[in-house]
Amino acid sequence: MTGVLNREVKYLSGVGEARARLLEREVGVRTIGDLLSRYPYRYIDRSRVFAISDIDETLESTYVQIRCRVVGKSIIGEGAKSRFTVEVCDPTGVAELTWFRGVKWIEKRVELQREYMVFGRPQMFKGRVSIVHPEIEPIEVALSRKVESSFQGIYSTTESLSQAISVKMMHTLVYNAWQLVASDSSAFEEPLSEDMRRRHGLITLREAIYNIHFPQSAERLKQAQYRLKFDELLGVQLTIQARRTSRHQRGGGFRFLRVGEAFNTFYREKLPFALTGAQQRVIKEIRADMISGRQMNRLLQGDVGSGKTMVAFMSMLLASDNGYQACIMAPTEILARQHYANMARMAEGIGVTVAILTGSSKAKERRVALEGIASGKVDILIGTHALIEDRVKFSNLGYVVIDEQHRFGVEQRAKLWTKNLEPPHILVMTATPIPRTLAMTLYGDLEVSVIDELPPGRKPIRTYHYYDSSRLRMIGFLREQIALGRQVYVVYPLIKESEKMDYKDLYDGFESMSRDFPLPKYRIAVCHGKMKPEDKDAAMEQFKRGQADILIATSVIEVGVDVPNATVMVIESSERFGLSQLHQLRGRVGRGGEQSYCILMTGDKLSKEGRARLEAMCSTNDGFKLSELDLRLRGAGDIHGTQQSGEAFELSIANLATDSQIMEVTREEALAILDKDVNLERVENQLLRRLRDRYRRMDYIDFSDIS
Ligand code: ADP
Ligand code: MG
Repeated sequence: MTGVLNREVKYLSGVGEARARLLEREVGVRTIGDLLSRYPYRYIDRSRVFAISDIDETLESTYVQIRCRVVGKSIIGEGAKSRFTVEVCDPTGVAELTWFRGVKWIEKRVELQREYMVFGRPQMFKGRVSIVHPEIEPIEVALSRKVESSFQGIYSTTESLSQAISVKMMHTLVYNAWQLVASDSSAFEEPLSEDMRRRHGLITLREAIYNIHFPQSAERLKQAQYRLKFDELLGVQLTIQARRTSRHQRGGGFRFLRVGEAFNTFYREKLPFALTGAQQRVIKEIRADMISGRQMNRLLQGDVGSGKTMVAFMSMLLASDNGYQACIMAPTEILARQHYANMARMAEGIGVTVAILTGSSKAKERRVALEGIASGKVDILIGTHALIEDRVKFSNLGYVVIDEQHRFGVEQRAKLWTKNLEPPHILVMTATPIPRTLAMTLYGDLEVSVIDELPPGRKPIRTYHYYDSSRLRMIGFLREQIALGRQVYVVYPLIKESEKMDYKDLYDGFESMSRDFPLPKYRIAVCHGKMKPEDKDAAMEQFKRGQADILIATSVIEVGVDVPNATVMVIESSERFGLSQLHQLRGRVGRGGEQSYCILMTGDKLSKEGRARLEAMCSTNDGFKLSELDLRLRGAGDIHGTQQSGEAFELSIANLATDSQIMEVTREEALAILDKDVNLERVENQLLRRLRDRYRRMDYIDFSDIS
């Protein structure tokens, strides 16, 4: 960035030390460049004046402007608790304005019978329009002021920032910043060639920056948005595609040419069911990668219960048939143990040795795993994060599978690839389907396989939403199911900030369930994250063996647990869960041949978004549909566990749910540019390089960072 853009905002008129500190702390703005790189998220048409009678509930969270006369004013209360209210009217109605701060100051400035322009966010209170802390200006002042644009941008803010810098003041600051930039032609230098701009009908970067803040017309605003989204996604694509290109240039990758003993024997003699068409296809795709001479990086997406484990296991047999070791890393102890139990059984009698290693492995188990893996005696190692510890040394690791990959951080995943000098083949599996646009961004350099078919005989799960007031009906239903010999999950939410509270929910729930389902007729097991691993295992084991009818749990059971006899999933306070989590939880049932049910319990009060989530859950079992919807409801920053694992992924203007078209054209452009200049070293690509470098820290599964 050039001089002007690097200048600190505190030197901007109207800012000063205190506001500068606040800007940096609250929204990360330190320089003029930072300020101008935050685009408005909404615009209001300042040329529009509302009639008071036209304001109703539908306008509640938006800004309106009214032209009105003051007909009454009074200060109510004393000292710190006082407030100032003003009654105003226009020819169509009356409204009330209220101030809780700066009461004395504002009271002196508002005169009875004078006409004002008022601007703010209305609320309807007992059928009456009321605005708290509006902007207010004598009408002559408002009408005579020259404005840069009749669209006023609204910038995202925070509680404390908005107290120090009003909507209008923010607008002025941005304008002052732009004035500095306007006289310095080296700021916002054009990174795109004229040719590229012409081909895509793009306005210049400077025009775009100006119009995004001060749109000269609705048309100009659209062009500005398009241009800035284009730059942003081009930056993203340059990052992703460069890594892919250099990976391909590096080559390498073991060749697993043989389909041998282990695979064939298992396939012919031990496969417990016929593979679905989708499973067969994916195994073929994996095998094709493994013999290609290029290191495989494949993402396997498949809805919960679609049978990814079998695909993982059979492809691990391919590795062992070719003399290589394989490992699979799962996010939880429970899941690793379950994989181990299954795989050890399946591997019996086919000459493949399986071992397990987790954080709570006892000395002997640990020794068997560590020694076996170092000597080459163990062919398949199953485990949790423990696999990435330094003392785990493989003799020749050829294949790594990561289950439920979104549960792991980037570094954790990357550490596994370094377990071998040559990078092993990699399969990452996820049951949280990712919409196509997001996959193109997060996993731009992965091949993608999809299992889009469930094993036969599964009945679609029926999902219902019950309010807490219908608890008794839910209890009755659970009793019926248990009487039929089925088992039930009851899940309570866990919220990070207040774990104590959460366990209180769970324990209160346990107590009330114990009353509704008394011993000895009913047996209840409890399982949550804070328990000792042994106790957790014991509870799970009890449930798996059918020795408990009800398993009360927090979302620790979210991932992968497989108990085919469980037919009901009750989710308490389900409004507190995200859509993908709800879907994951629901996937714990419907695994056997019986009809299964998911019951979403909620309180009476639901937010609009919460209601939308529950309706979506009740209307479809399709994880891909739900993930598209989730993306729309929440925005991409939040989706796919990017937030829970603390990985930064933020776009400032492009929207992954709706901008797939721009994503595709920028991908093509990025490939064309990189084809000639992978590292963007040429003189004419220097500005593109800056664009790219903004997204360097972007998270997606990456294999080149390790070298
Ligand atoms: P996920 O994809 O969620 O990891 P799993 O691999 O745990 O699913 O499989 C879910 C259940 O379906 C398991 O009980 C598994 O044995 C069973 N299963 C997998 N593939 C098939 C198949 N082709 N036919 C019948 N059952 C299958
Ligand atoms: Mg699984």
